[in-house]
Amino acid sequence: MARTIAAARLIVASHNAGKVREIAALLEPLGIEAVGAGTLGLDEPEETGDTFGANAALKARAAAEASGEPALADDSGLVVPALDGAPGIYSARWAGPGKDFRVAMERIESELAARGVAIRGASAFFVCALSLGWPDGRCETVEGRVDGRLTWPPRGSHGFGYDPIFVPEGHERSFGVMKPEEKQPLTHRARAFERLLASGLLARP
Ligand code: IMP
Repeated sequence: MARTIAAARLIVASHNAGKVREIAALLEPLGIEAVGAGTLGLDEPEETGDTFGANAALKARAAAEASGEPALADDSGLVVPALDGAPGIYSARWAGPGKDFRVAMERIESELAARGVAIRGASAFFVCALSLGWPDGRCETVEGRVDGRLTWPPRGSHGFGYDPIFVPEGHERSFGVMKPEEKQPLTHRARAFERLLASGLLARP
């Protein structure tokens, strides 16, 4: 039986400020305050899973166990089919220790070029697994996805990560060019969140 979380605040098991911001905006209409794991001084567990869902679950469980409160974790990334799914679950790691996403975007461009594929117009999608973890180790996971294509050179200064090279289906501008309120409802994260709401796991406190 699924248990519903109805709390005034929820730990967001992420140290990525861009993600915490987007998740906070999704929780706000429910009257739930998002508290980032970094704010609470929680450690970032090593992402040892081999799927988005496995990594989201291990982050949610670790934060819920460490804080004694329910925690929501996101594991997400960009999948490029012409690169056999890379960077996928390694999306954050492609940016290197300096978390420089220009480096990661250039790597996508050069690896596609090495395969004779132009980055402009190459299909890609973002995936987001959202896990809700309880302090007793229980965990529920849902997934959302947004399809699109890549553009080059990177465009726009909004958002984070790979936003400047991703153009969602049905649009002409990259996520990096879109204002947050325009990007938000289109994202893999918003779609996963809709599933979380539909599952009845989250409710207004
Ligand atoms: P992780 O889930 O912490 O392993 O990191 C996922 C990585 O995927 C992020 O650091 C971003 O680089 C990328 N990513 C996930 N969601 C988005 C998004 O909405 N826009 C751009 N990049 C994203």
